[in-house]
Amino acid sequence: MSMRRSLAITALIMCSALVASCSGGGGSRPVPAERATNAGQPSGFAVPASISVAVPPSPPSFTPARPSSTRRMSVSPSATHPAFFAGEVALSNGVYYLNMPNGNPFGYYSYLSDPHYIYHFDAGYEYVVDASDAQGGVYFYDFASSHWWYTNRQWPFPYLYDFSLGALLYYYPASAAGHSTSNPRYFYDFKDSQIMTMPIAGPASVTVSSATPTDLYITNTYQVGATLLPDGDTPSGGNGPIGTSVDGIRCDPHAALGSIHIHMHVTLIKDGVTIAVPEAIGVANPGPEAGGSIDNGDCFYWIHTHDRTGIIHQESVQGGASPPYLMRQLLHVWGMTITRDPSSLQGSIAGFADPTKNLRGRIRIFTSDATGGGGSPYVTGTNLVEVPATTDPATLALNAHQEITIEISTATPDTWAPVPRYKWLGSL
Ligand SMILES: [Zn+2]
Repeated sequence: MSMRRSLAITALIMCSALVASCSGGGGSRPVPAERATNAGQPSGFAVPASISVAVPPSPPSFTPARPSSTRRMSVSPSATHPAFFAGEVALSNGVYYLNMPNGNPFGYYSYLSDPHYIYHFDAGYEYVVDASDAQGGVYFYDFASSHWWYTNRQWPFPYLYDFSLGALLYYYPASAAGHSTSNPRYFYDFKDSQIMTMPIAGPASVTVSSATPTDLYITNTYQVGATLLPDGDTPSGGNGPIGTSVDGIRCDPHAALGSIHIHMHVTLIKDGVTIAVPEAIGVANPGPEAGGSIDNGDCFYWIHTHDRTGIIHQESVQGGASPPYLMRQLLHVWGMTITRDPSSLQGSIAGFADPTKNLRGRIRIFTSDATGGGGSPYVTGTNLVEVPATTDPATLALNAHQEITIEISTATPDTWAPVPRYKWLGSL
């Protein structure tokens, strides 16, 4: 049986602090330097108080255009702002500051010339849609995560509902007064009872430098990296039917698996941008995605993915070949190849005809162990080793809680990102 966590809804406790105790917006606040005062982590990551709320109505169904990077093009002080912003205080230079009625800071922001867009000093660009409800509700399209959020004056912010995650979140404030965490933004996810950053990885959060990376949180169903590669196995990979094998890896009903069950993680990085490992690798005729995960299909090979986190599941039946399996077997099930010339490091993984998807260039590969000693969370990134050029990547063993990072640089000069470190949340 699967060890995947159930997504049981956390029991929420009624909060008694919903009475508006309006502490006002504070009138003579100076305009702070953008993002300068809230670098680093907040003073603590305490679990926030639960609140009992109904799931808000669905957000707008469109995806706003990303605004240009030029902020404060102009201000629209005469425009009518949604009721959510009642009490906002205009500072200098077109910057506004808002406290919620109970005193929670919404923070500093400015409107673009189209007042549907705000630039929030900590959260970044948000597209604003008035929910026009009795709670002073507002929808935000969060450009950093491409998620729609809802919050209102009565929950109030920093509680927000994330429609992509289907979860109530608490957006952690920063230690600097009036600020939220930024770069990375920290959230408490009440659905999974976990602290997370968002976006977890991907173009918005990858730093192309040799700087030491910060830990990224990883847990089931949260996509790591940008979508580029199609889901599932390619036509040359394992596509069933049930009972057939690819490179010694058999396809069995998922319910029959789990006699042995370990996880490890693969990160693909192209020119400094993390590319999501597809979901439904090793799933024959996958069923529909539910809750960000593929849990049904005609059969599951003993090595497979359920989601786009990069987590690789190795599960076999009693008497089946025991993990760890090899990179070669993952690639054969996926229907992919990895090649690398030992002298030039030129090579490819994922041989698509579409040049925008062809991961071809100079390849560096790193492995690192997990720590944690059976505890939680595991943290990958210790004992970081670059795989020698003379080693055939296909021969790498995929060990429990190991991180394997495959970087491809197609640019001149080469563009490399630091090898990410992950904290594994939950019982992975
Ligand atoms: Zn599985």
